[in-house]
Amino acid sequence: MAKNEANGITRRDLFGLGGAAAGAALVGGLGLPSRLAEAEEAPLPQVPRRTLGKTGKSVPILLLGGMALEKKFDPKIAEAVRFGVNYVDAADCYLGGSSEAGLAAYFARAKNRDKFWVTSKSDKHDPKAFEQTVFRSLEQLQSDYVDLYYLHGLDDAKYVSDDLAVTVSRLKKAGKIRHFGFSCHGGNVVELLHLAAKTPWVESVMFRYNFRSYGDKELNAAIDAAHKAGVGLIAMKTQGAEAGFRDAWQKFEKTGKWTKHQAVLKAVWADERISAAVSNMDSFEKLRENIAAALDRTSLTSAEKEALDRYAMATRPYACDGCDHLCGAAVAANVKIGDTMRYLMYHDAYGEKGRARELFAKLPAEARNLSSVDFSAANRACPHGVDVAGLMRRAETVLA
Ligand code: SF4
Repeated sequence: MAKNEANGITRRDLFGLGGAAAGAALVGGLGLPSRLAEAEEAPLPQVPRRTLGKTGKSVPILLLGGMALEKKFDPKIAEAVRFGVNYVDAADCYLGGSSEAGLAAYFARAKNRDKFWVTSKSDKHDPKAFEQTVFRSLEQLQSDYVDLYYLHGLDDAKYVSDDLAVTVSRLKKAGKIRHFGFSCHGGNVVELLHLAAKTPWVESVMFRYNFRSYGDKELNAAIDAAHKAGVGLIAMKTQGAEAGFRDAWQKFEKTGKWTKHQAVLKAVWADERISAAVSNMDSFEKLRENIAAALDRTSLTSAEKEALDRYAMATRPYACDGCDHLCGAAVAANVKIGDTMRYLMYHDAYGEKGRARELFAKLPAEARNLSSVDFSAANRACPHGVDVAGLMRRAETVLA
């Protein structure tokens, strides 16, 4: 059994502290706030923390993704906070609009809103609509404030505007939001990180970052610029998951003690410029697995890093970076290749079939009409050799 030197516990010890047994105990105590408080205060090893850039606040390196929490009360939150994971990442649009209400249900029962760093997000990019969403989030969260609020899914630098700066400043002065940032999934992440570096009121950026990103010089230069400017960087999509995932998954070779989920998180945490990684943990098992990886301070061995590199290469043709300004321009139809690939990833890799279909259904009709489009030029345009045509066919089958 591997011994966790930093904390003097074995992984079995750690697993014995949480998991199904703890979940059952907490579920059994749902009506008893004092029992939750007791559970949360038990002395346990704590996940390391880092400063989130110019916010100056310390956050755990592992963050609870709001997309995998229960829509009502979620006992995984109580389990996570016992290990110091007290940052929850919600959004107005997650779980069909229920992620914030689920958190409110937790706080109402546990009576501990002040112990948590809560983020939420608006996918409305117009300043007025953004502000309205902030107020809706506060109502859903039943809270007077949100610690950090993101403009979600930013895909165009024009939305980081003077008007938005005024809105953000007003919301901060009124105490509604404490910090502001934006999240981005798309292929213009390099441009957006440089923009954040030049924009003093952008305090944090959430962006796609994982073991596939290391060799990307432009991305690394943009991360350096943002980090040096004090932008708090949070990695998402850390699993580097692939559309058409089922076959790709088999290519990961376990060379050391870590599972693939753990190895890819440790690869992200090895980059000190990144404050934290957000992870959607939809079971006690995943929560335990990720906490165990965070508590163990040892780095990946060279053999483990090489195995990840081999996995990255073997699965590259399945992994889409969302840079559809490249492949989309080659197609004579108004399709959304990056978004469609992401929804396919949610479906295939995350197992979030309902959500993937819901998101796909929100695309304009023309973007959903994939069968009439010839994607062969997109295949040729993709620098990573992604089989766009094949994956769009699959998307139409499973998402439509
Ligand atoms: S298919 Fe290729 S070019 Fe198109 S968005 Fe994905 S990675 Fe970028």
